[in-house]
Amino acid sequence: MIHRRHAARLLASAFAAALLFPAAPVLADAPAPAPAAATQAEAAAPRLVVAISIDQYSADLFAEYRNHFTQGFARLLNGAVFPSGFQSHAATETCPGHSTIMTGDHPSRTGIIANNWIDQNAPRDKKSVYCAEDETKTAADPKDYVASVGHLRVPTLGDRLKMVSPKSRNVAVSGKDRAALMMGGHDTDQVWWWKDDRFVTLDGKPSDPAAEAENAAVAKVLNAPGTAFDLPQWCQSRDRPIEAGSVTVGTGRFAMAAGDQNAFRVSPRLDQATLELAGRLVREMKLGKGAATDVLSISLSANDYIGHAYGTEGSEMCIQNHALDVELGQFFAMLDSLGIDYVVALTADHGGFDLPERQDQQAMPMIHRADYSTSAKVLGEKVGEKLGITADGPLIYGEGVFGDYWVNKALSPEQKQAVIAEAKDELERNPEVAAVFTAAEIEAAPVPTGSPETWSLIERAKDSFYPPRSGDFLAFLKRDIVTIPKPAPGYVATHGTPWDHDRRVPILFWRKGTASFEQPNPVETVDIAPTLAALIHLDVKPGEMDGRCLDIDGGPASTCPASN
Ligand code: ZN
Repeated sequence: MIHRRHAARLLASAFAAALLFPAAPVLADAPAPAPAAATQAEAAAPRLVVAISIDQYSADLFAEYRNHFTQGFARLLNGAVFPSGFQSHAATETCPGHSTIMTGDHPSRTGIIANNWIDQNAPRDKKSVYCAEDETKTAADPKDYVASVGHLRVPTLGDRLKMVSPKSRNVAVSGKDRAALMMGGHDTDQVWWWKDDRFVTLDGKPSDPAAEAENAAVAKVLNAPGTAFDLPQWCQSRDRPIEAGSVTVGTGRFAMAAGDQNAFRVSPRLDQATLELAGRLVREMKLGKGAATDVLSISLSANDYIGHAYGTEGSEMCIQNHALDVELGQFFAMLDSLGIDYVVALTADHGGFDLPERQDQQAMPMIHRADYSTSAKVLGEKVGEKLGITADGPLIYGEGVFGDYWVNKALSPEQKQAVIAEAKDELERNPEVAAVFTAAEIEAAPVPTGSPETWSLIERAKDSFYPPRSGDFLAFLKRDIVTIPKPAPGYVATHGTPWDHDRRVPILFWRKGTASFEQPNPVETVDIAPTLAALIHLDVKPGEMDGRCLDIDGGPASTCPASN
């Protein structure tokens, strides 16, 4: 425990040193340095970086609906289009995914290995730690937590920019705290996320007129009945009821009773409000019109809530895609009307997978739900009985029916090894399980290189493995398994697996005047931050980020450093 704390302190001080002493700063608000290559000479830095993440927006969804887009997405389709981007890692959840987008680093480096992990040394009874909390603090409401970005081990693009360009502003908004915090980072001028019925910020941060105005506007929407959304003509083929246990999905229109916070959140209304708040902050702070380049991160969460509640192939997700296209179009038009020179990068934190009950009707009868046999509780009881080992508390800790598992720390080293070996053996005999890796095996595996499309499962695991937080062993279920054993209202379909339906996401860049192209070869979400850094002339030394700069100009000009 002491060693662990000491290590944490060392890491914290290393990070603080990096913040204080950035290598060879290049001032983004000063004239650009003499370009190293003639191809870069004419490229002035955009005044505003707009990074957008659509939560649970798989490459499959983008492919399914791209022909119908006429507004915001249509503009992005006239930019640099990478239809096969990768959240390359195995732990395809919101927090790890968002941690890659603006840092340029894989979760193995950001330290965000999952939405939640087990820390048996956590200074409280509850040992599950949320990625975006400070578990050393107690919230006013004991059922609540204190939001924090402290678990993110690296700086974001906005953090880096502000180190060398103090006049730059770094702003983040989202429907989820973890998304806003992981994209915004450690040094945000404004960071806002949706909570229950309003946008809130970090404890101790002042309120803001833009947020107050948006909260007042949202209250009016929330407290009135919401009419059903129209079904676009191209969504009609999706409009078919599907029964999943006691839940029926597939024909929803997002009608809302007055004051129904859940119905508001699980509808396009949440994204609308998030983009409205972003727009208010742009106008209030005059983002993109200041003395230096600013960074605005936006994560749209409704897509994920809709995917979980209704799956990916019903009327609900189709309406949501149409709404996203319209909302993004309005947002870009607002930026245009202000005369801001901006660049957009749009991607997702992870993909998604439809519910098995609809997959069954649509040519995929082999897709089925997980059972509970791989849960930490069932596994721990089985292994404990076989070995005759008991512990105070669970023998094996875990979150859900796959992923990381932690062995109770009170066991002797010999007992722990025996539990890991027996659990691995037990899981490997389970027909639902695709692979099991111990922490030692993952640590010994080489760091993956090359195209993420062809990485093995252990390489995908390695990419979201951070030894101080990761489990003692890790299990993946087979590709055809949906990891929700029992569907419930609001939760019938999910993501989080190492399979490509959860890893592949679109990556789109757009800037006025840049020659458009489509590049079908795989790229990675960790490439976004170095790509944006080059555009805004922010110096990133080789090796400082895991990703690489993508040249987003389809013509002979390059938007990347000559040394790239
Ligand atoms: Zn997500």
